[in-house]
Amino acid sequence: MASIELKSVEKWFGEAQVIKGVDLVIEEGEFVIFVGPSGCGKSTLLRMIAGLEETSRGQILIGGRDATAEPPARRGLAMVFQSYALYPHMSVRDNMGFSLKAAGVPKPEMDAKVDEAARVLKLEPLLDRRPKDLSGGQRQRVAIGRSIVRDPTAFLFDEPLSNLDAALRVEMRYEIAKLHQSLKSTMIYVTHDQVEAMTLADRIVVLEAGRVSQVGSPRELYERPGNLFVAQFIGSPK
Ligand code: ADP
Ligand code: MG
Repeated sequence: MASIELKSVEKWFGEAQVIKGVDLVIEEGEFVIFVGPSGCGKSTLLRMIAGLEETSRGQILIGGRDATAEPPARRGLAMVFQSYALYPHMSVRDNMGFSLKAAGVPKPEMDAKVDEAARVLKLEPLLDRRPKDLSGGQRQRVAIGRSIVRDPTAFLFDEPLSNLDAALRVEMRYEIAKLHQSLKSTMIYVTHDQVEAMTLADRIVVLEAGRVSQVGSPRELYERPGNLFVAQFIGSPK
């Protein structure tokens, strides 16, 4: 079954239509990357999938269920933000367990989930630290860890690495690739970084002015760029 399906999705901000009829099927376990020029609607589309923006028209299905009108908390998705927004006064363990605690999950189960996420993300030695005693990359991993503990249907990332320096970006790109391999979860990832898109994506969705202008594997886009933007983004001749 498709993990996430968009059917004729539109978004209007007042008189302005910023998403103009998007149809897209994302399979379970797929790593899909949204690219496109600044202002083309990448973040808006991602936020609509997350439920942080209302869908003006069309439908969003999650695991076959019509989730168009569901609030974010009921969609079972994890949105990983660019800014880490960790609680400064809490340890890494408490930051990672916070949402489970708030949902009334019993402590033994919560500890087990946090331990498992810490293992996957190699955060075990850091569980007792506070965010201020972590590096940028470690904080980013804690932010991801906070979502993993909730066993989300899919992870949504909006330019998660754009605040990081070049070396750390390379390291985190590798971490995210490993995470996808080990969790096998659906991931939707917005980036303007060509290398991230080419190395992480199963499929790349190119958006232009609120419409999907091309969808394909990195190889397909490289070999047959559908327009100048894709050709320039991918760096292939056209
Ligand atoms: P991207 O992430 O691709 O750079 P966005 O999704 O942030 O693009 O924005 C798409 C368009 O929608 C832009 O023209 C932006 O100005 C507009 N937009 C985004 N959020 C709002 C909002 N809350 N109110 C009005 N216009 C918005
Ligand atoms: Mg954006």
